[in-house]
Amino acid sequence: MLGQMMDHPLLISDLLTFSAQYHGDTEIVTRTVEGPIHRYDYRSAARRSRQLAQALARLGIEVGDRVATMAWNTHRHFELYFGVSGMGAVCHTLNPRLFADQLTYIVNHAGDKAVFVDLTFVPLLEKLADQLQGVEHWVVMTDGEHMPDTSLPNALCYEDLVEAEDGNYDWPSFDENTASSLCYTSGTTGHPKGVLYSHRSTVLHSYAACMVDTLRLSARDSVLPVVPMFHANAWGLPYASPLVGAKQVLPGPGLDAPSLVELFEQEEVTTTAGVPTIWLGLLQHLRDTGKSLGTVRRVVIGGSAAPRSMIAEFQERHRVQVVHAWGMTETSPLGTVGTLKSKHEGLSEDARLDLQAKQGRAVAGVQLRIVSDDGAEQVQDGEAFGELEVKGPWVVGRYFRTEGEALRDGWFPTGDVATIDHDGFMQITDRAKDVIKSGGEWISSIDLENEVVAHPRVAEAAVIGIHHPKWDERPLLVVVAKPDDPPTAEELREFLQDKIAKWWMPDDIVFVDELPHTATGKISKKDLRVRFENYELPTA
Ligand code: AMP
Repeated sequence: MLGQMMDHPLLISDLLTFSAQYHGDTEIVTRTVEGPIHRYDYRSAARRSRQLAQALARLGIEVGDRVATMAWNTHRHFELYFGVSGMGAVCHTLNPRLFADQLTYIVNHAGDKAVFVDLTFVPLLEKLADQLQGVEHWVVMTDGEHMPDTSLPNALCYEDLVEAEDGNYDWPSFDENTASSLCYTSGTTGHPKGVLYSHRSTVLHSYAACMVDTLRLSARDSVLPVVPMFHANAWGLPYASPLVGAKQVLPGPGLDAPSLVELFEQEEVTTTAGVPTIWLGLLQHLRDTGKSLGTVRRVVIGGSAAPRSMIAEFQERHRVQVVHAWGMTETSPLGTVGTLKSKHEGLSEDARLDLQAKQGRAVAGVQLRIVSDDGAEQVQDGEAFGELEVKGPWVVGRYFRTEGEALRDGWFPTGDVATIDHDGFMQITDRAKDVIKSGGEWISSIDLENEVVAHPRVAEAAVIGIHHPKWDERPLLVVVAKPDDPPTAEELREFLQDKIAKWWMPDDIVFVDELPHTATGKISKKDLRVRFENYELPTA
């Protein structure tokens, strides 16, 4: 017997229609690529998204067509999120930090019919355009006054396109399982793979993101996503914010600490979100200038492990609550969030930080388990570890236009190695391929890195396994020291001594000026391994 409730599909356009109706005067503020601050409200954003949908239809974009964006977090990118998906096409976000050949592969593989590009990235795409034969329309996301002289074929101006339409447009209704957006994983091996989200998965993920034990978004928040809209949909914030009518503050290309702090102050930001690398720079800036985080109450940290020392600095020095989250492009991305339970209220500060340094518990709707190499499910006692597998309505089922299974026994294998404790708190111990296998035992590179970056004179650190004739692999610690007073290797060893098991002590410590990062801001272990490929450990 079927239920007898209205058969109303979950559609992305409804999120914006709702905010336009009930939060019509709530602001969306952008630091534009052209420079000035742009402000308007949900009512205007909804109208312009409808105008954009009309313009897309006029260009010949049809249901299911892929429309790519290469853009910062701005109001125009927000309009594309809704205009493209709302009309039934697929909004494909391109990460400008990828290598040229990866971008060429991705645009051709996705079959993008139109590309919308910010002024910043026009030169980048000009170099690739003749290899992107399927692209029929190039649109520069600016106004007539700033339209560049470009070799992009028949380049159109975004504002001209939008302004030419009247906005008298009804969002179409269709099956909620229709594809809405597409994002390629950065792909540490092989070609990048496309994750094709649906309206249903996106709307459900938005509801889950707002929950109090998730990101706690409400109409009283002012949200500044530092995480780019080209990285896992800015963790869903551009969809979740209109769902609750939160004010949005979009930083455009200004991701440096002074520009962010200025927006935090001026726009009374309450919630912000980004990867640890961004916060390293921000915390350093606050230390240097003595500035505060003003009205910011919550910082969401994910994408890589949030070091315990970073969580402590935010909470103790700035009185800002850290929300540590884990996810993947394949999980939309929210999978786990580290909000505490009431039983944790009496914990000492130290014990609480230990818990918050874990990646958190499953967001309602997501199931987690850990399995050993032979596929046996492991107990969830906080000790046993294995590969983390996930399931849920916003977890990938298969990759876009790719042969082969993405799932194993109906679960998505994440490639992360983790433990899960009795309270359901998951802790990533490593990426499966980054774990250091020493004498048959595993050393967690993440744990070691977290201990090292807690040193007050260390800026960033990475640990990789180096071949060792006796132990198979041993850890090499690569450190970026803070500028003025770098620690010596000996000081670091002393610092680590009582914090780690003796056999975890790195066999060597190397200081470098900079660590390589991936297109999504994570330390690139792959590049580090190449760089230290022939490195000989003094213990070998
Ligand atoms: P991406 O699809 O580019 O977002 O990368 C997903 C991967 O980032 C995950 O599989 C993890 O390895 C890593 N990751 C994301 N969040 C965290 C976190 N909070 N702690 C540790 N690793 C994380």
